[in-house]
Amino acid sequence: MNVYDSDKIAQGLDPLGYRLTDSPDKADMIIVNTCAIREKAVQKVFSYLGRVAGLKQARPNLIIGVGGCVAQQEGERVLKRAPYVDLVFGTHAIGRLPSLVDRIEKKRQRVVDVEMGTRIEESDGAVVPRGETEVSRFLTIMHGCDNYCTYCVVPYVRGRESSRWPDHILAEIQDLVDNGVREVTLLGQNVNSYGQKEGLPDFTALLEKINDIDGLKRIRFTTSHPKDLSANLIAAFGRLDKLCQHIHLPVQSGADTILKRMNRNYTSAQYLDKINQLRTICPDIAITSDIIVGFPGETEQDFAATLDLIETVGYDGLFAFKYSDRPNAPATQFSEKVAERDMDERLQKVLELQETITLAKNRSLVGQTQEVLVESYRLKPAGGNGGTGSGQWTGRTSTNKIVHMPADEAPQGQAGNIGPGSLIPVLIKKAFAHSLWGLPDGSGARTAIGPKGESSHAA
Ligand code: SAM
Ligand code: SF4
Repeated sequence: MNVYDSDKIAQGLDPLGYRLTDSPDKADMIIVNTCAIREKAVQKVFSYLGRVAGLKQARPNLIIGVGGCVAQQEGERVLKRAPYVDLVFGTHAIGRLPSLVDRIEKKRQRVVDVEMGTRIEESDGAVVPRGETEVSRFLTIMHGCDNYCTYCVVPYVRGRESSRWPDHILAEIQDLVDNGVREVTLLGQNVNSYGQKEGLPDFTALLEKINDIDGLKRIRFTTSHPKDLSANLIAAFGRLDKLCQHIHLPVQSGADTILKRMNRNYTSAQYLDKINQLRTICPDIAITSDIIVGFPGETEQDFAATLDLIETVGYDGLFAFKYSDRPNAPATQFSEKVAERDMDERLQKVLELQETITLAKNRSLVGQTQEVLVESYRLKPAGGNGGTGSGQWTGRTSTNKIVHMPADEAPQGQAGNIGPGSLIPVLIKKAFAHSLWGLPDGSGARTAIGPKGESSHAA
């Protein structure tokens, strides 16, 4: 979501004459777009600000802005902790950014805008790709969250849930496709409640419309709350040809007592039932999840239930976090906090278990042909890990696994067709914990689809 917001920020500042640069030393303005989901993320913001403070000393006209969730949460306090900051703008203020910057430029005044409305109004135009070869883009379809999980800061810093209008979303995707994008990832804290408040057609109906967009090859989305994952959406995995075979379905814990205290509104049995339904419709679907270890009151037995659930599901990948107290979140007041040392141990156990499962899953793909959307090309350094000094393509399977492919081993007649945006069959030859390695499949029976959507049969 912050990637998308950062693009919106860059786009909004473009008419004021600001262009992106890759070096803070060259910048006239530095905007730090922040995350407040865990305390560690907040600490990172202030340590980064400390680093850019020196630049401001050397160049007093440099404008330093802080946006996103930390800005929303801390407001004026950012200016107290980092007095060299000129601008603090919250999650609902991105559309107002040009006028805020204009004020700073004209009056050299420090500005704080953390006002929140019930909806975030659309700003003009789609966020278009930065470079020609950008194949995959994030796209926010809804803002905020109404779920109030007891550990989570999102409803307080992103506001109440609101959905963007379908025609804006569709027009934005069409614009992206016209600019060469072939895959979109639709973003919302709980896409399953898309449009409900506004009385709009539901998320599955939106997916159907997106599936009809010519030139778009793949659709992904994140996140779906397990309590709201509907039979309708599950069925879409068997029906919509562009919908990727991957779902991120955060479980957080395998213990029902903890799930209840987290206010997640499902039990582990209900969660596992949804997993079964997904696998019945789409047997090869990749499933990933989020886990919090050390939620207040989590016993060794509760934690064992989480490990059990991880094994039972057999996730393709996991994001695991140590519980972190957040301002306003009710769990901050819960007693029975788990000791840091125990959290560290539990996190380690989750990561180790998952690494074994992921590796086994990836190894089971060796010898199979997977359809890969090529995202990038880069020159490989000579030597080391099969490097030959020639080029390497990187892409993803429908199940969201990263695949590297040596460009010099493409079957004759295919190499010219392969580039960012190509959808190609790839024979998986090697598997690692975090990636796969394969060769473009030159059997001739499969069709390579070029970057612009044209097809050609392999030689
Ligand atoms: N809306 C998504 C959902 O409900 O699954 C999750 C959004 S949140 C931005 C991403 C993940 O951060 C959560 O799934 C959770 O695992 C983790 N998280 C949120 N608050 C946390 C906290 N206070 N401490 C540790 N992890 C947290
Ligand atoms: Fe946070 Fe829960 Fe909303 Fe996800 S569903 S953003 S975890 S409150």
